[in-house]
Amino acid sequence: MNPTYSSDSRRHFLRQTGLGVALAAVAGPAAALPFTETTAAMQYDDQKKLGFAIVGLGKFAQEQMMPAFKDCKYARITALVSGSPDKAKKLAAEYGVDAKNIYNYRNFDSIKDNPAVDVVYIVLPVGLHAEYTIRAAKAGKHVLCEKPMANTEKDCQQMIDACQKAGKKLMIAYRAQYEPFNLEAIARIRKGELGKVMQITADHGRIVDPTGDQADTWRVQKKLAGGGSLMDLGIYSLNAARYLTGEEPVEVTALEMSDQADPRFKEVEDRIHFTLRFPSGILATCTSSYSTEGVKRYRVFGQKAWLDLDPATDYYEHKMVIGDKDGQQQPKIKEGNQFAAELDHMAECVLQNKTPKTPGEEGLKDIRLIMAIYEAARTGKKVKV
Ligand code: NAD
Repeated sequence: MNPTYSSDSRRHFLRQTGLGVALAAVAGPAAALPFTETTAAMQYDDQKKLGFAIVGLGKFAQEQMMPAFKDCKYARITALVSGSPDKAKKLAAEYGVDAKNIYNYRNFDSIKDNPAVDVVYIVLPVGLHAEYTIRAAKAGKHVLCEKPMANTEKDCQQMIDACQKAGKKLMIAYRAQYEPFNLEAIARIRKGELGKVMQITADHGRIVDPTGDQADTWRVQKKLAGGGSLMDLGIYSLNAARYLTGEEPVEVTALEMSDQADPRFKEVEDRIHFTLRFPSGILATCTSSYSTEGVKRYRVFGQKAWLDLDPATDYYEHKMVIGDKDGQQQPKIKEGNQFAAELDHMAECVLQNKTPKTPGEEGLKDIRLIMAIYEAARTGKKVKV
């Protein structure tokens, strides 16, 4: 069993039962779980919210994203797209979605005739992101697409082009860029609290288990996942190195190690260590792994101080520690519902005709770098980007 899943499930249970809020009320703000914005969200006129169609009703959609809509001010679920009619019907009843707004993958394109849907949110395996983004754009809908954006740079570009041609927004769901602890880390770095930043380490890993978790079945298939731990988890390290520095890497090196006798790694990689060199001279050393226990952390090293987020990119319960020669402190930062913040950002961009903070181009940048990292690992040579 993967302990990451069990703690996620526990939190999911707490939230679903409302116990999270009750516990927070009893235990005080230090123990507060981030689900207390419901009242504010409910005060907002539900009919004025933008309608989202959820495409792919799997683990992440059901356990994290769909429950987050209750905390949204500008977004609500109005349609579901699934290959499983029973599951869709059950979830439609649970979320108050009209049964006539249930689609399958064959009749998905007819969503163009449904004015209740403004945004299509794609939560499918990575290898299907491009197809459904392009179909959604052709249906005249804005698109929010899960990370990583797609299997190849070419697919990413086609997604960008399709949305541009249709005059629709495209946003990639980089939730950490809407999460309060990460935003606080960026703000402190930009204010110069750490002094000049010199280096970053970032590690993301968990045990992939296709025999125990349905959601891991496609993750070990190259066609559906695009790659292994780098595509799925290393992308958090990579994206963090970019948003923490505010720079784009110019050079990458990498080493990969996968046990060829392990059936999980027949098509996708297990571990990758990669180094990024940024124009200012900052070095980032990042790792991703599918064969070690859950880790989602980074540390930023400045000339005056260092800043740790561990966990940095979890769903809840982040922790920041800042240290220097005089000691360490743990700043008090309010947890927020990053999923609701991300969904509301997408809706606000549509409502106010703004470009999303994490547009298709942001997803493409990561995929381009991921391809450079794979090339560096394959050739053993530095790759300029
Ligand atoms: P999952 O397997 O639980 O969900 C995928 C869904 O797609 C399932 O409902 C499945 O039935 C459906 N599907 C449709 N066609 C399919 C096909 N041909 N093969 C396999 N499944 C098919 O996976 P998940 O963990 O929910 O991941 C879904 C997406 O969400 C991925 O893009 C993943 O990278 C992303 N994700 C993002 C985060 C995050 O924190 N942002 C976390 C987990 C997953």
